[in-house]
Amino acid sequence: MQINRNFQKIESSYLFSNIAKRVREYKAAHPDKADDVISLGIGDVTRPLAPAVIEAMHKAVDEMAHAETFRGYPPEYGQDFLLEAILENDYRARGVELSKTEIFVSDGAKSDCGNIGDIFSTDNVVAVCDPVYPVYVDTNVMSGRAGDKTETGWSNIVYMPCTAETGFLPELPKRHVDMIYLCFPNNPTGMAASAEQLKRWVEYANREGAVILFDSAYEAFITTPGVPHSIYEIEGAKTCAIELRSFSKTAGFTGVRCGYTVVPHDLKKDGVELNAMWARRQATKFNGVSYITQRAAEACYSPAGKRQIRETIDYYRKNAKTIYEGLKDCGFTVYGAVDSPYVWLKTPDGMGSWDFFDLLLQNMQVVGTPGEGFGPSGEGYFRLTAFGSAENTEKAVARIRAYFAK
Ligand code: PLP
Repeated sequence: MQINRNFQKIESSYLFSNIAKRVREYKAAHPDKADDVISLGIGDVTRPLAPAVIEAMHKAVDEMAHAETFRGYPPEYGQDFLLEAILENDYRARGVELSKTEIFVSDGAKSDCGNIGDIFSTDNVVAVCDPVYPVYVDTNVMSGRAGDKTETGWSNIVYMPCTAETGFLPELPKRHVDMIYLCFPNNPTGMAASAEQLKRWVEYANREGAVILFDSAYEAFITTPGVPHSIYEIEGAKTCAIELRSFSKTAGFTGVRCGYTVVPHDLKKDGVELNAMWARRQATKFNGVSYITQRAAEACYSPAGKRQIRETIDYYRKNAKTIYEGLKDCGFTVYGAVDSPYVWLKTPDGMGSWDFFDLLLQNMQVVGTPGEGFGPSGEGYFRLTAFGSAENTEKAVARIRAYFAK
């Protein structure tokens, strides 16, 4: 018997476990300050679900209580009512025509980001933005596509640096790549990509025969006019891109769990529709999303649901502005916040990102995320999130201001 040895290549201390450990140790050493610690670190939401969502869930629970309306296994790819709401609101409203068979409802974008690799050869060359959501790299390490760990990252992964020098956008790779993970608005930098920039990627992928895995988990935070919410707003994307979406940050579903993946029928490799492959994969390894959850997701698209969700996003956006402006006033170089719940800042005086983490924790009792945890080019940067309460966000920013004013 042999185990999958690729798992042993992954560092056991995942970024957020490492952060939690440091916070635990700090609290144990400073019990008088333990209650003062404010986390602007992990990207989880804090506002409750929208009333329209709660109402839909209660109704669905009641349906499950009666034999006539009880539901067993859900359809593998999503209930018609949810697929129709997605098509109408997320796509048709933006001029994109897709069919119900191109949408696959799931338990969230993280699973789909990780599982999508099942339909691709392990010989493919993967390209990722650097820094980026760590799941893209780690799941490719597990499946054996990443090679070996080196001082500058994984040997078979092509890193596309996204730093101040590149305007936090990736440049087209100088070599051929097969699978390109793009995440816009980006986690962690908070930067969005314009239609012009995405067009270059779609042209590149179609020319090279590559597939773009477009993660738009944060599209609901886009405010800049003209910034695409979907890769399919770009002509030619249906022959080269898979899109991953989530209700987590849009509607506070981090605990409810719902997302979806779009695989257009026009996307073919080796004469095979990737849509058929993903359908086969999901039907074999996934048993659908609960009826209650899908009714909850559908409610996000009702007029009341849309209004309530917008209010919550505006609440987080206000927090993002508070952090962004507060830090800017202190003399920090800050990015993001406009189309995103994330604020990305340059650490002062070239300080290492973990050193800056310790400085904030020890002196201001504020927890953020060291940029280095998101990839080699994240070193020297730091991420703060807008998902806390307005009160805690203001308190944290006031402490940062007071400390750096000294
Ligand atoms: N994609 C990105 C870029 C994320 O930052 C996250 C969560 O933080 C996810 C996907 C995960 O989304 P979900 O909660 O739908 O699994």
